[in-house]
Amino acid sequence: MNMSSLDIDYLLTTSDPVAVDNLYEQAAALRDSVYGHNIFLRGLIEISNHCRNNCLYCGIRRELKTQRYRLTKEQILDCCHTGHELGFRTFVLQGGEDAWFTDEVLCDWVAEIKRRFPDCAVTLSLGERGRESFRRLREAGADRYLLRHETADATHYARLHPSEMSFEHRMQCLRDLRDLGYQVGTGFMVGSPYQTLETLKKDLAFIADFRPEMVGIGPFIPATGTPFEQHSAGSIELTLRLIAILRLLLPNALLPATTALGTLHPTGRERAIAAGANVIMPNLSPQDTRALYSIYNNKLSTGSEAAETVADIRARLKAIGFETPVDRGDFKR
Ligand code: SAH
Repeated sequence: MNMSSLDIDYLLTTSDPVAVDNLYEQAAALRDSVYGHNIFLRGLIEISNHCRNNCLYCGIRRELKTQRYRLTKEQILDCCHTGHELGFRTFVLQGGEDAWFTDEVLCDWVAEIKRRFPDCAVTLSLGERGRESFRRLREAGADRYLLRHETADATHYARLHPSEMSFEHRMQCLRDLRDLGYQVGTGFMVGSPYQTLETLKKDLAFIADFRPEMVGIGPFIPATGTPFEQHSAGSIELTLRLIAILRLLLPNALLPATTALGTLHPTGRERAIAAGANVIMPNLSPQDTRALYSIYNNKLSTGSEAAETVADIRARLKAIGFETPVDRGDFKR
């Protein structure tokens, strides 16, 4: 479906529960028609909370005085090993924009993961880099890159980020990643400060036009010590509606039921699946660093270990009738 065939204003604002249920059902049916009753698991490995950026919403922003950590190559490979045994076939390396991550370091890590786990996809989510860096990482074996655009409205972008960050550069990164043959993920927070119905419609229009393979959206959750610590969290209901609309716009997209949704509501992720999501990213990070990757408050499963987190998620999915195939879960063309 395209933007003009959907009444986005109505879908985002109606208080008619029947209309909302219809939206979710239509989205879930469309997901099933492409991917079946399958939810793809990606093992999230939070590799560093060092960051050169100062995004106003983020709990690991540069200015925030917090304990910093960075995983070693061995720790990352251990996480992958654990994940592989648990049936994961995608590893997502996420982190702050850590200056220590030179192309040499990252290319070595990516190549080693691909050598040891040739049946797995590697996704990177390490913020903005130059085109040449993206090219080298792709050559080293990275398959996918997640870089949320955060907002498609340049004025809104400037209110969420310090002036040294540029909306244009973030968008340029997304175009470069696409050109270089990555499966590209973008997305935004729902209910970020200063977001409006108009900026959300711009987000949807941008996504409908760019057609990313993956779109990650989750509610904004305040992080203590940030300029936005007093702002309220985004709405679960609005997030679910946006997931469903994204499914209608991009039937083949990989749409995660995000940890932020699970953090705000005990069954937030299950509800996202009922609204058309088809990916969950359980945390594979080492138990002792999890709590330090605190991009927002009360993040889910910071106290548990990988096997526990995964068993819990599998049980929840089984209870609502979904399979978790041992599969890379690539985008279907
Ligand atoms: N440094 C990487 C990874 C950032 S963390 C990058 O820039 O892409 C991944 C995502 O978490 C961000 O893109 C942002 O949309 C989300 N996030 C950050 N702070 C958040 C908060 N307070 N509440 C909800 N989501 C947040």
